[in-house]
Amino acid sequence: MSRPDEIAANLDVVRHRIVAACVEAGRPEDDVSLVVVTKFFPASDVRLLAEMGVTDVGENRHQEAEAKAFECADLGLRWHFIGGLQSNKAAAVASYADVVESVDRPKLAGPLARGAQARGRDVDVLLQVSLDPPGADNRSGARPDDLADLARRVEEAGMLRLRGLMAVAPLGEDPDAAFARLADVRQSFLHDHPQATALSAGMSGDLEAAIRHGATHVRVGSAVLGERPTVQ
Ligand SMILES: *Cc1c(COP(=O)(O)O)cnc(C)c1O
Repeated sequence: MSRPDEIAANLDVVRHRIVAACVEAGRPEDDVSLVVVTKFFPASDVRLLAEMGVTDVGENRHQEAEAKAFECADLGLRWHFIGGLQSNKAAAVASYADVVESVDRPKLAGPLARGAQARGRDVDVLLQVSLDPPGADNRSGARPDDLADLARRVEEAGMLRLRGLMAVAPLGEDPDAAFARLADVRQSFLHDHPQATALSAGMSGDLEAAIRHGATHVRVGSAVLGERPTVQ
């Protein structure tokens, strides 16, 4: 199969999965947006995705993301940064990312705002929340108890629009249970930030569970583009 045929067929399957999950959850079919995660895949694939109507792509490593966003600047795509963010790279990320989904500590707000300022336009921000059990050594994601302070820092920074929350289900746990906890966290977060309605959750293996628990954005990589190389 040619690469365009392969991607088109996979995209079709994923779009149907999203619609079916919405129907099953009693939600409107257009409630959930697809972000195709293009990390490790070449700009030529991003170009094919754009031709097939994909509007949002996700990347998790700064250098790769920056190069691809530059190469694909003519496509009018929305670039989501979904990876671990170093504070010394945050300003640079905000210079090409339209949405930064992985904001998990207050230190990032200042540099992100400076990057947005330099480019002269606002950047959408999601706060990444950890779904690990309390006491776990969180690799990424703010603890739910720290979200209020983090949100305040983002709102005070200027040029950053607080849009909602993002999470990854912990490995080795039933994603349904993890996303149920996320839905609780989100409900109390929405109480204080009613405009921050986005919820980015769900990947190739667990998008149905995420949609069941309120996801508005799913981040899907391998189900659309195939297996990523395991090295690197
Ligand atoms: C890679 C990645 C994804 C996509 O994962 P797939 O299992 O390939 O769909 C989603 N979210 C984040 C944060 C990622 O790093």
